[in-house]
Amino acid sequence: MASYYNENTVLYLNGAFVKAAEAKMDLYSQSLHYGYSVFEGIRSYKNEVGETKVFKAEQHFERLKKSASAIRLPYHWTVEQLVEATYEVLKVNNLQDAYIRPLVFAPANMSFVENTESFITIQAWEMQPFLGEKLLKVMTSSFQRPNPKGFTITAKASGHYVNSIMASQEAKANGFDEALLTDINGYVAEGPGANVFYEKDGHLFTPATGNILPGITRATVLEICDELLIPVKEKLITLDELKEADAVFFCGTAAEVIGWESLDNRPFKISWKDSVGNKIQQAYKNKVVAV
Ligand code: PMP
Repeated sequence: MASYYNENTVLYLNGAFVKAAEAKMDLYSQSLHYGYSVFEGIRSYKNEVGETKVFKAEQHFERLKKSASAIRLPYHWTVEQLVEATYEVLKVNNLQDAYIRPLVFAPANMSFVENTESFITIQAWEMQPFLGEKLLKVMTSSFQRPNPKGFTITAKASGHYVNSIMASQEAKANGFDEALLTDINGYVAEGPGANVFYEKDGHLFTPATGNILPGITRATVLEICDELLIPVKEKLITLDELKEADAVFFCGTAAEVIGWESLDNRPFKISWKDSVGNKIQQAYKNKVVAV
């Protein structure tokens, strides 16, 4: 397992900066027992002039608030306060290229009733920019994404990630790098922690919202398409369509932009270096370190 902290690491917990090794949470928390918490995955990069820059920090903390509200978890922090706390966590831990994990969690509560309080932690660990040198072998998962009528799937709620873990572990157990999940109607949805785009004749396509977590990176890719005049469309996508694609990529905060080698062992038509996805990958790389 990866090592996320050592004896010197400091995290943010309810307004204080405390040693990760000494920080405590209540084992009777509703969050631990039922997956009833919300979180974010954010990245910081050392930018072109050597400063530490958190990419789209405001958007991530706004989504954290929306996620909490969607599952009725009390939330009483401002975006500014949490952005400031994040920069402080990075500074005290001497981090520049990092992964940042805010998590809002519930108090001790074994019932299902609404809470009057909640807690927040912000953790960070080193993560070098990845930017997908290696292409992914992807498997169509036997698991589908949760029914949007069973969960508010636009919320980044911890419990939803049991589905992601099942799909990802299944793919790895079968010799693949990652899973692709369909929605409850069998259309292409997303990866366990990333959105998907495919390319056909120079046009890009991505699943419409409704059955996916509409990622901040997905929004950035749409912005890049706009800037580079790449035609892009959000729509319902079938697995057969995806198999006939010229190229495919995942995008997400952690994954950044990463091309696929194959889906269910079937390679794509054009090489990644000649794809529109590759151009998007370069543009994304530039955007995250821009001043
Ligand atoms: N889908 C799922 C299920 C995710 O967990 C993530 C990661 N947050 C994404 C998509 C990509 O979202 P973002 O670009 O905001 O990281």
